[in-house]
Amino acid sequence: MPFRASILTLYPEMFPGPLGFSLAGEALRRGLWSLETHQIRDHGIGRHRNVDDNPAGGGAGMVLRCDVLGAAIDAAVPAQDTRPRLLMSPRGAPLSQRQVRDWVSGEGVVIVCGRFEGVDERVIEGRGLIEVSIGDYILSGGEMAALVLLDACVRLIPGVMGKELSGEDESFENGLLEYPHYTRPREWEGRGLPEALLSGDHARIARWRRAEAERITRERRPDLLKDRSGD
Ligand code: SAH
Repeated sequence: MPFRASILTLYPEMFPGPLGFSLAGEALRRGLWSLETHQIRDHGIGRHRNVDDNPAGGGAGMVLRCDVLGAAIDAAVPAQDTRPRLLMSPRGAPLSQRQVRDWVSGEGVVIVCGRFEGVDERVIEGRGLIEVSIGDYILSGGEMAALVLLDACVRLIPGVMGKELSGEDESFENGLLEYPHYTRPREWEGRGLPEALLSGDHARIARWRRAEAERITRERRPDLLKDRSGD
């Protein structure tokens, strides 16, 4: 069964958006993954289909109602659907390559996109939503975060990236940031190529790349090295 993404949002027109282009777009058209959107407002209250209300206890902003969101989830996702139900949220666990691989090995994901100040806590509990963050900053809505999450997933679906060794060497895949890349020309503005890469000696090239990956990780993200030794 191909990877299936179901999105609950107030802005379904934002999808597939950038995922309609390039490798992800081609894969979508070829049926390697599928995307469906569900308009939360279809379950809004009254003639104006209200979806939000003032925060209990007062304060600024509006909160997505739990009854509205609960009804939207129930209509979009059958109870026996075992896909993880994600809620894009700055409070969530940071999105990681490991987590993305895990989701791709399953049947897909359900993604709820928040808006306003966020969603009523009771629907997070009541529908078992897993909060996922794409970084320590605040977006105006969950849609772009959902697109980021899906882009990271879709490129790992078998067949999407073509014949390339698809990412085994990439940053985070082995707990290291990636080594530097070079291509033509052989000299540019007085800058040449690292000698090891010209040697034709595959073992030497592999050693050089490994050493560079370790150096860059040590300089920029020493926290990744710590995580590795803890494995
Ligand atoms: N008041 C909230 C922020 C709400 S931003 C807080 O302080 O935590 C509105 C919506 O945008 C959120 O409900 C969420 O769906 C989305 N969003 C904002 N920042 C995000 C992030 N870093 N990662 C994932 N989703 C985010």
